[in-house]
Amino acid sequence: MTTIRTYNLGYPRIGEKRELKKATEAYWKGNLTREELLESGRDLRRRHWTQQREAGIDSIPSNDFSFYDQMLDMSCLLGNVPPRFEWSGAMVDIDTMFRIARGGAKPEGSNGKSAQVAAEMTKWFDTNYHYIVPEFSPDTVFKTASSKIFDEFKEALDLGIKTRPVLIGPVTYLALGKGPSQDADTFDRFALLERLLPVYKEILQKLAALGAEWVQLDEPILTLDLTAEQRGYLTKAYKELAAAAPELQLLVATYFGELRDNLDTFLKLPVAALHVDAVRGRQEIDAVLKDFPKDKILSLGVVDGRNVWRNDFDASLDLLKKAQKVCGNERLIVAPSCSLMHSPVTLRNEPELDAELKSWLAFANEKLEEVVILRDLLVGKADAAAALESNQKAIKAHRKSSRIHNPSVKERTAAIKEADFHRASAFSERRKAQESELKLPLFPTTTIGSFPQTQVVRQMRARCRQGEISAEAYEHFIEQETERCVRFQEKIGIDVLVHGEFERNDMVEYFGQQLEGFAFTQHGWVQSYGSRYVKPPILFGDVSRPHPMTVRWSKYAQSLTPKPMKGMLTGPVTILQWSFVRDDQPRPETARQVALAIRDEVSDLEKAGIRVIQIDEPAFREGLPLRNADWKHYLDWAAKAFRLSSSSVEDATQIHTHMCYSEFNDIIEAIADLDADVITIETSRSNMELLEAFVDFKYPNEIGPGVYDIHSPRVPEPVEMEDLMQKAKAVLPPKNLWVNPDCGLKTRQWEEVQLSLTNMIEAARSLRAGSSSDDTPLN
Ligand code: GLN
Ligand code: ZN
Repeated sequence: MTTIRTYNLGYPRIGEKRELKKATEAYWKGNLTREELLESGRDLRRRHWTQQREAGIDSIPSNDFSFYDQMLDMSCLLGNVPPRFEWSGAMVDIDTMFRIARGGAKPEGSNGKSAQVAAEMTKWFDTNYHYIVPEFSPDTVFKTASSKIFDEFKEALDLGIKTRPVLIGPVTYLALGKGPSQDADTFDRFALLERLLPVYKEILQKLAALGAEWVQLDEPILTLDLTAEQRGYLTKAYKELAAAAPELQLLVATYFGELRDNLDTFLKLPVAALHVDAVRGRQEIDAVLKDFPKDKILSLGVVDGRNVWRNDFDASLDLLKKAQKVCGNERLIVAPSCSLMHSPVTLRNEPELDAELKSWLAFANEKLEEVVILRDLLVGKADAAAALESNQKAIKAHRKSSRIHNPSVKERTAAIKEADFHRASAFSERRKAQESELKLPLFPTTTIGSFPQTQVVRQMRARCRQGEISAEAYEHFIEQETERCVRFQEKIGIDVLVHGEFERNDMVEYFGQQLEGFAFTQHGWVQSYGSRYVKPPILFGDVSRPHPMTVRWSKYAQSLTPKPMKGMLTGPVTILQWSFVRDDQPRPETARQVALAIRDEVSDLEKAGIRVIQIDEPAFREGLPLRNADWKHYLDWAAKAFRLSSSSVEDATQIHTHMCYSEFNDIIEAIADLDADVITIETSRSNMELLEAFVDFKYPNEIGPGVYDIHSPRVPEPVEMEDLMQKAKAVLPPKNLWVNPDCGLKTRQWEEVQLSLTNMIEAARSLRAGSSSDDTPLN
């Protein structure tokens, strides 16, 4: 009897001790040769493949490894290098690949030659991973231009492992790229499909010739809203690809959500196997099974690749058994829901997590064990029974643990009243109270919160953590930094000051560490982009705030100056978005708990005499669901969570919020719904284009369109910033406008910040000289 097989869709490439980061960064600095870098990649792959084999995974992926990003690898494989990188047209080497990702310097002595701007980077669906956006034009041609996928297949073969190479599917590849900005309206990326498919065919044939039996093609766009035309491209593409390599078995994988109106197209793709995300798409599995074709294999992704919780075997077995009835053992595969690259690598290196908490968790390695046990249970393997029992025990203990349930928190959220979501008065009323309280000039100036986190600041924090210096010495040091920052802002004449956030390592971690209900790992890293990894906190239980978190620093900073000092908080939506969040209760409920904790902090800041409080929500937009139909629900609870955190204050206390890199058109109503008195946003790089949404909507409250790009070391001239503000002033009432940078200054050098902010103040002064509060916008 054939048995049910186990698959893995993708393994974290970063290494359990972040070996990949260390190697690539050393290479970029010139401390590692290219051969050494390549060897470190081989070493990681070898380890990862053998680990998966030892775990009992039947079909192991290859080409899921990448030195930077799998979409970029795809572009290199297809020879799609943007012309500005002056690629010779032979095989794309690793340095060209890195240049596309990171930009190239202006070649020395090259008259008139400009620097090679890095390709754009954007979020991979609703994850925190960023991919390099492929660039297309009507002239784009494709050809096989990288041997990576073939080399890696052979490499594994040498270890005796016949892997399943993974490719981004052609339709997803085209859909996620961008056309030339000049003819954005007329250019159709999908017109390139005709040119693209022959190269895919060639790649598949070559893999087959090397001995590959299975190839995985990822088409996650199937979980997005598609047009009938786009669905047609999928059908066409797979018809051709399947015919081109009949000896290969193709697996088309979707993940991150339900298929809904794309289900029919998906089920009819003429390929050997289909993978579905049975975690995010759980509700849909009955529908998938009902129409599942008799000649196809189903890969059921029951182990959550996007979160850190231990699998609930009973729940997974429910689904798997239904699938087993339909598909039998021969046509069923057990798998994680998506690539495990979105999950930390292993629990093995977490000695500081207590045993109870650990028993609730599963990272990539543990998830693979789960996949194998689930299969064993399904085929009735005798020695798996004990694993089921211990899983049931752990799941039950987790559900009931007093560490996740805090009755007083639950009582509090249950007692929330409608009034708690609203400020006492409307904005027009509040504005009057704030005017007499704060007495700010027209075009008030402020910053977004952080000032340079220098090496010294980080070193002092590390030394304090390691016990090399006392907590008092550290606090004293932070006080000095704060004072220096306050004095500087006073000197240059900023209107609403900040304390500088020197005490914070990270805007979510800082709060998580002081709240009940959060845990932190030592090595729970996940790739965010390139060599940048993040270590999201684990929000495991009911959230409460045992003591004030920021009052001490805001109060200290305010004591130094008569000018208004802005209190700085991270909002509930962003805290959730950048953490691994418990899945045993609805997300809006968890958001309300976090919101109440922030609300308490807001009240304490107000009591301590802080009259301007900023609640940052940079991740507000990225929480948007993949499907349009789900937006309203999200925007509704997200906006309510923000209002719950911010609405307790008096009219005269001014609430700010901040969002960066957001496109606002889609969510402008929800932004207005936040009812913040002031919002600061990113606009300088888009030349104030982002403001359009606010203008069209007639956004009623105050707004600070960022006047300079803090991501660049460049110091902008006063006139540049004034010009940008003139643009804003032409479309919005002057009395609604603030002058501030795009985002926090944490990553900048002090010298740059000093010059830039001084210029910004000059721009604001000159603006004031030429304006009056009664000015009305031109249109
Ligand atoms: N207050 C934060 C800072 O200035 C905001 C950071 C952000 O928007 N990502 O650093
Ligand atoms: Zn920002």
